[in-house]
Amino acid sequence: MAEVTTVKTLKNYINGEWVESESTDTLDVYNPATKEVMAKAPLSTRSELDEAARTAQEAFEDWKETAVPKRARILFKFQQLLIDNKQELAEIITKENGKSLKESLGEVQRGIENVEFAAGAPTLMMGDSLPSIATDIEGTNYRYPVGVVGGITPFNFPMMVPCWMFPMAIATGNTFVLKPSEKTPLLIEKIVTLLEEAGLPKGVFNVVNGAHDVVNGILENEHIKAISFVGSKPVGEYVYKKGTDNLKRVQALTGAKNHTIVLNDANVDQAVKEVIGAAFGSAGERCMAAAVIAVEEGIYDTFIQKLKTEAENIQMGNGLDDGVFLGPVIREENKERTLQYINQGEEEGAKLALDGRDRCSDDGYFVGPTIFEDVTTDMKIWQDEIFAPVLSVMKVKNLKDGIRTANQSEFANGACLFSDSASSIRYFRENIDAGMLGINLGVPAPMAIFPFSGWKSSFFGSLHANGKDGVEFYTRKKVVTARHLKPQFEGEE
Ligand code: NAD
Repeated sequence: MAEVTTVKTLKNYINGEWVESESTDTLDVYNPATKEVMAKAPLSTRSELDEAARTAQEAFEDWKETAVPKRARILFKFQQLLIDNKQELAEIITKENGKSLKESLGEVQRGIENVEFAAGAPTLMMGDSLPSIATDIEGTNYRYPVGVVGGITPFNFPMMVPCWMFPMAIATGNTFVLKPSEKTPLLIEKIVTLLEEAGLPKGVFNVVNGAHDVVNGILENEHIKAISFVGSKPVGEYVYKKGTDNLKRVQALTGAKNHTIVLNDANVDQAVKEVIGAAFGSAGERCMAAAVIAVEEGIYDTFIQKLKTEAENIQMGNGLDDGVFLGPVIREENKERTLQYINQGEEEGAKLALDGRDRCSDDGYFVGPTIFEDVTTDMKIWQDEIFAPVLSVMKVKNLKDGIRTANQSEFANGACLFSDSASSIRYFRENIDAGMLGINLGVPAPMAIFPFSGWKSSFFGSLHANGKDGVEFYTRKKVVTARHLKPQFEGEE
């Protein structure tokens, strides 16, 4: 008789307890490298979200009064627990997302850096004061949390992206309700156990699994005062419009199509190595992935040749296996969508320098590294975020031509330049439309101390995630203007 294995259904974490969802609708959570169903994610209801937000509001009353250094100490402990559990956390990420273990370890490290930054809350929350704004009058600016914060996160960074949000939100005194991606909800279970071990009080951090019903609940719930969203452009635009319509503070970090310019004076070998990592790492499922490479005429042929040779040698497979660099995309429909783009690129007249369809495998959702050359701005493969290991290369006359071309994109998340010229680097910095720039680097993702700063359709809002923007987003200010009466001393006039 065949062995019957039961797949667990994930629970929600509300007010410090794991609770079963009342919903019977679930989505399978796959290991994309093996197609194994690892768990079922419940599509929780609006009322479950409302309950989480209600208890988060109750918890807020005590948490906001908890001394800031005491809150920071919990984060210090949490940070140490993340370090102690780094390997296990990375393995969970690789299993649910598909990226290589090395990349998962890198992701865990980026999450840890966010916690480190948030643990500086006592300094970051300090206000300003001026003892004398007029005769005997002083002004003081105090910083307070905003209340309950809702977080909505994508599948591609199950740890790092939630860590852009909740550590700073709770360090500054808010309570938090997270709706993780329904495609990668497993890592958060482990995060919860570590937060509990670090001593986080009940109700400060809550998790409600699900999809659009829970998102709509976050957008409408009366207790939720601020929303941090990271995901695709259409959903981010919807979240921003609906959330602000309901008078909530919203930051929405969205899609991307990142451009890289390689000039004649670049170190070509170094540029190729960086571009390979940036375009095909995490199977291209990164908002900072290199998607378009504009190469100056003089080195175009050499660059393409070297890029193709390197890409052909990429090791594909299960990210848990030694030496694997390129894992699967997240789901069958993502694979199908990618193959459609490859077909469309050919139909539009781009030349396939490397055809990833030759290395597709049905063991998991694998698509091989794909390189198009002679791509032009009227092609969909140039315009759309493909979010897969598909790279477009185009020839440009010079730096100005490269920037003019890149600036036609509706997105403006990251952009990179490979060059040895100080004046070209400065010209690029001043003229390119993008919030995060890399110079002789493939993936210019800023550290936690800086804002994650997309422009145009890559971001909706004003305060970005991380850095001082993060502190501003999760706090509100109170300015006290006080007249101090002169003390009267006996015997003095
Ligand atoms: P997605 O937009 O499909 O999902 C993001 C979140 O929104 C998920 O939690 C999902 O459940 C929810 N959602 C999806 N459809 C919804 C709907 N119709 N109504 C309400 N909620 C909905 O994004 P994804 O596929 O998980 O992630 C990939 C996208 O995220 C890419 O576009 C990528 O560029 C972007 N991303 C951006 C950044 C950044 O910093 N700009 C970082 C990481 C990922």
